Amino acid sequence: MNNLYFEKARKLLQLAEKNIKDDINSMSLDEMITPVLFFALGMESLFKGIIYKVNVLFTYKNTDFKSIAPIVYKQQYQHPYKEPKRDENDSSKDKIRGENSMATDVLTFGESLLRAKCFSTVSYKNKATLFRLKNIRDDIAHKTLDLLEEQKLKDILGQFRYLIFKYEEELAEKFISAIPRPTELSERDLELETHISDLVALHKNKWKEQKQWEEQKQEESLKKAREETFNRLQDYDINGADGAYTIRCPACSNEAVIWFQVGGWVEEFNGFGYETVPATTSLVLLNCCFCGFRIDKTEELDWFDKYRSSR
Ligand SMILES: [Zn+2]
Repeated sequence: MNNLYFEKARKLLQLAEKNIKDDINSMSLDEMITPVLFFALGMESLFKGIIYKVNVLFTYKNTDFKSIAPIVYKQQYQHPYKEPKRDENDSSKDKIRGENSMATDVLTFGESLLRAKCFSTVSYKNKATLFRLKNIRDDIAHKTLDLLEEQKLKDILGQFRYLIFKYEEELAEKFISAIPRPTELSERDLELETHISDLVALHKNKWKEQKQWEEQKQEESLKKAREETFNRLQDYDINGADGAYTIRCPACSNEAVIWFQVGGWVEEFNGFGYETVPATTSLVLLNCCFCGFRIDKTEELDWFDKYRSSR
């Protein structure tokens, strides 16, 4: 069976590809809007293609027979399905009609991603980046131009080739015209790893130097760092973050602050009832007030996140 979603993804992703310059840093905000939108639309189709490969019904929100059968089994479906008559006084009737009306609603970006990541390791591993792409697309749809953050668009476009290559590898499909060099994927991981280890080493040394300071100066500096850490946790409104928590600083082992954004919400059963919990979170900034270690670039944070969860 032809995967129509992959075909659509291919069209949309190639439109994105055509509009991305070799030097992303030289692109203006106006120039970035088109490729970001096609990137997001293409990814949504790609997720649906992944789900579709497993079971076509999974691409629909509601798999009510009456609505789904004529769409999915068009060839065989010949006579309309009639619902059994219901009691006029039955109050559940309205509810059922309401449910039917949304039976053929297709999945949103977030819902498609949540389902796709059950079947695709690339989606699972890169969910933070992918939810970030969704948030940026939403920003373009809902915010005025002056509120769009140029750097965020640049960062996400910088992930384009890498992500698509990963999917091409996983799905044995070709989506864009660019061809990865055999080492391109591992080289990128290695470059990031080296860059972050260099940063860690630099701040480890800075921290060691502070240990040589005279006692009073050390005390003052520690006190200031503790206060700053506390304040930052209370006032986490930075880079569009939804919250902050502390982790062990990879450089100096003190408490560093991590800011995160929530990427969509899901209902989860907690043993007593359903509660709304974040579907996934993505990091927006990691900063240590003790040694000054700081990473804020999307790809660095994503790398760090993956590294942390794989340990
Ligand atoms: Zn530190």
